[in-house]
Amino acid sequence: MLFKKLLNIFRTKTNSHIKKGEITCTECGLVYDNTLGFFKKEANECPDCQYIKILTDKSFDEMSDNLRVIKTIRGERAIKAAKDMGLKLLELKAEVSDEFKVKYKKLQHRKTGEIITIGDFREGNGSEWKTLVNWTSENPSKFFSPYAAYVIPKDLKKGECVLINDVITNHVSGRWNQGDVYRLSKSEATWTGEDFYIDVSSYAIGDFIG
Ligand SMILES: [Zn+2]
Repeated sequence: MLFKKLLNIFRTKTNSHIKKGEITCTECGLVYDNTLGFFKKEANECPDCQYIKILTDKSFDEMSDNLRVIKTIRGERAIKAAKDMGLKLLELKAEVSDEFKVKYKKLQHRKTGEIITIGDFREGNGSEWKTLVNWTSENPSKFFSPYAAYVIPKDLKKGECVLINDVITNHVSGRWNQGDVYRLSKSEATWTGEDFYIDVSSYAIGDFIG
């Protein structure tokens, strides 16, 4: 289970054309840093368009394990669009916390050109791998915009338990004795009527040694 969660954390696209730096979105014109969201599922996609898609997909009835899935949107453009659609929002500021850090190293296979990302100091990289990016830490609480909001279903009842796939507030998911401090991105939560109480223990990976 832990291994699976770590795989998700380190999942990255093996696209050798992607370089560190700025990218201009061909759809909306947003200029963004493609290193942001490195550890996130949608890494290297225009963040603005990614959150607009959440609204245009209109999949607000999604359920997971009998829990309603609460959608998160980020960026001023998506928030404005949601308001124009008449959606009920809980707006929160996405704060950057220096508490979080997740280290990685990027390697490229000398023959196949395959690019992999490793996160464990103990992982060997034989002579067939060359280092593209040496050990670097990223802060998973850094998002492209400080503006964020949950889309609140209008019939959400006080006390209802839900699933949030993109938690806005900062909570520690776990710590690795190699120095990494993980941020909780997915969690069950309870609607208090005005806010979500985040049940950190529902998805936290906990502390581990290795
Ligand atoms: Zn875009």
